Amino acid sequence: MKVSERIVVVGGSLAGLRAMEAMRALGHRGEIVAICGEDEMPYDRPPLSKQFLKAGWDDDRLSLRRSGFQELDVDWRLGCHARSLDAGAREIGFPDGSRLAYGGLLIATGSTPRRLPGASALKGTHVLRSLAEARALREDLQPGSRLLVIGAGFIGMEVAASARELGLEVTVIESLPSPLLRGLGAELGAWAMGRFADHGVDVLCGATVKGFLGETRVEGVELGDGKRIQADVVVAGIGVVPACAWVADSGLDIENGILCDGSGATGLPDVVAAGDVARWYNPVYGEAIRYEHWTSAVEQSAVAAERLLGGHGGVKPLAQVPYVWSDLFEMRLGIVGDVAGSDRMHVCHGSLEGDKFLSLFGRDGKLCAAVGMKRPRPLNACRTLISQGASFEDAVSANA
Ligand SMILES: Cc1cc2nc3c(=O)[nH]c(=O)nc-3n(C[C@H](O)[C@H](O)[C@H](O)COP(=O)(O)OP(=O)(O)OC[C@H]3O[C@@H](n4cnc5c(N)ncnc54)[C@H](O)[C@@H]3O)c2cc1C
Repeated sequence: MKVSERIVVVGGSLAGLRAMEAMRALGHRGEIVAICGEDEMPYDRPPLSKQFLKAGWDDDRLSLRRSGFQELDVDWRLGCHARSLDAGAREIGFPDGSRLAYGGLLIATGSTPRRLPGASALKGTHVLRSLAEARALREDLQPGSRLLVIGAGFIGMEVAASARELGLEVTVIESLPSPLLRGLGAELGAWAMGRFADHGVDVLCGATVKGFLGETRVEGVELGDGKRIQADVVVAGIGVVPACAWVADSGLDIENGILCDGSGATGLPDVVAAGDVARWYNPVYGEAIRYEHWTSAVEQSAVAAERLLGGHGGVKPLAQVPYVWSDLFEMRLGIVGDVAGSDRMHVCHGSLEGDKFLSLFGRDGKLCAAVGMKRPRPLNACRTLISQGASFEDAVSANA
C-alpha cells in the first residue's frame, strides 16, 4: 500500500488533527484513518486547567475545530487504542488481535501523566491530562474544601490558581527549592510564589510526599519530614512521559520520545511523528529535544505532514524556539526559549513589582530565553532573536 492510498494517524488530538488538516490542504486525496484512544473528537487541553475548571466552560468550547470535522473526510475510530506497530508488514495492531494496514503513518500519541504510587486507589486523587479527568476533578473542586497540589509546575500551579478562584483552600508542595523552576528560573519562581501567597495559596518548597492518608477516600498526605497535611482533594502535577510504549518493539529509535530528524521523519520508511511524543532534531540548539507545548505540536504537525506526503529532500528542518504560555490568577505569562537555573536575568520594559515586564535570560553569552507579562511584542521579537543566535548583550541593548 502506498502513502497516497491510506495514511493512518495514531493519536487524534492536537498534533494528529493539525497534521490531517495539513495533509488535506497539501492535496492528499487518499484515505485517512484516525486511531483515537479517547472517546472524544479532538479538543483543546490548555483550557482544562484554566477556563474549564474555574469558568465552567462546556465541552463545545473546547473543540479544536469549530467548523466541524466533516470536510476533512477522515475515518475516525474513537475509543480505539493502537497496541503495536509492525513496520515490515506496514500494519498497526490492536488489543483484539485485529490489524490495520497503512501506506503512511503519523504517530501523535502525545504524553501521559506520571502517577504517584498508591494514589489511584484512593477517591479524591487526580491527575489532569484528558477531558474525562478534568470533568472528574471539576466535580471534586467544591468551594470550602481543601485542595493539595503535588508539584509546582505549570499544570499544578494553574490548577491551584483555578481552585483558589473557586473558593477552595489550596496548598501546593514542591520538592525543588522554588515553584515553576524549570519554566521560569529561581528569581521569577520566587516572584510567582509571592503572587500566590497574595492570593492565599501556600507553596511549600523542598517537600516530598511519603504517603497518602485515608482508607477509601484521600484525607491528606504525609511528607518526608513526617509533617501531615490534611486535604479533601489531591492533584498530582508531577510531569508527563511520552506515550510510546505501544511502539517499543517496532524498531523505532526511542529515547525520551520517538527520535526524529528536523522534519519528523523516523528511522522507519513512511513513518513520521509529531507533538509531545516526538523528540525532533532542532537545528537552533544542535540536538534532539522533546517539547510538551501546544505551539510546538502545531508547528511540527504541518512539517511532518509535508514530509510524509513525499516532500523528502525538499522539507526544511524546523528551527524551533519553544513558546509556551500560562495563566495564573490575573497573570498571563509568555515564555520563549529555554530557562535554566544558572542563567543571567535582566528585567526590562517594566518591573516585576509592577506586574508588567520582559525578563531576558542569557547563557554562554547568548540570549537563551525571555519571559514576558503584558509584553507580547518584545517577547515575540525575542523568539526571533534566539533563533538567530543573538548575544545576550545585543538583546539587552535592543530592549533598553
Ligand atoms: C491541562 C493542560 C493544560 C495545558 N496548558 C498548556 C498551555 O497553557 N500552553 C501550552 O503550550 N501547552 C499546554 N499544555 C500542553 C499541550 O496541551 C500539549 O503540548 C498538546 O496537547 C500536545 O498535543 P499532542 O497531540 O502531541 O498530544 P496529546 O494532546 O497528548 O494527544 C495525544 C492523543 O493520543 C491518544 N493516544 C495515546 N496513545 C494512544 C494509542 N496507543 N492509540 C490511540 N490513541 C492514543 C491520547 O489519548 C490523546 O488523545 C497543556 C496540557 C494540559 C494537559
